Amino acid sequence: GISLHNLTKQFDDVTAVDSVSLDVTEGEFLVLVGPSGCGKSTTLRLCAGLESTTEGTVSISDRNVTAEPASERDVAMVFQNYALYPHMTARENMTFGLDAAAGFSGTEATERVEEAAAILDIEDLLDRKPSALSGGEQQRVAIGRALVRDPEVFLMDEPLSNLDAKLRVQMRAELAELHAELQTTTVYVTHDQVEAMTLGDRVAVMNDGRIEQVAPPQDLYDAPDTRFVAEFIGSPG
Ligand code: ATP
Ligand code: MG
Repeated sequence: GISLHNLTKQFDDVTAVDSVSLDVTEGEFLVLVGPSGCGKSTTLRLCAGLESTTEGTVSISDRNVTAEPASERDVAMVFQNYALYPHMTARENMTFGLDAAAGFSGTEATERVEEAAAILDIEDLLDRKPSALSGGEQQRVAIGRALVRDPEVFLMDEPLSNLDAKLRVQMRAELAELHAELQTTTVYVTHDQVEAMTLGDRVAVMNDGRIEQVAPPQDLYDAPDTRFVAEFIGSPG
């Protein structure tokens, strides 16, 4: 799992993340939801080590990794814009970094990529470059690239937001299946409350750098702690 303790990030006069504490247990799918600018991406980037912390700690599998760079953290991140290398094929994108330095033999890397491609149903697309793939296909490759690393924690930042509505609903179901199969601890960021409520084992509602409430979807709906949570979730209570 991954634990945040009093995590804070200050950018000049903006407190993007304000003393956030959160325990995501092993195998859990935790959704971080909230309006634009509330600090979701910054929280995820702090988890990944892509941003330095102003205060507080990040622990992965009960080990404090706050001082460790991104390359030493056992996490894999999927971004909104896919962030694939345009000059590499899907296969090369997925294999990138799975080298001897990371403890993988060539055969092992190939096997892992093929296994992930089968799970994501992209076996026939592996030799294409991103420009020859649709948005949904590119996002499958980006998820595959995270998958082959078999990380302790998946961090996903609005991975479906660039897809059309129909594909988004389809990929949502696929992500749920993938999680049911792999049980990898996941922190999933979205500003879409429907996505949050359908995907999350628990949902953390964020507002202005702080977490207002963390609870299973039904509990958030039935018993919102604050007016903000009620309004954001669309709960009658
Ligand atoms: P969105 O839903 O629009 O993606 P978000 O919840 O992911 O929003 P963040 O990107 O985490 O929000 O931003 C939180 C706050 O921190 C915002 O006020 C933003 O302007 C500010 N911020 C983020 N990154 C930086 C940066 N590198 N320098 C200065 N301010 C930043
Ligand atoms: Mg964001």
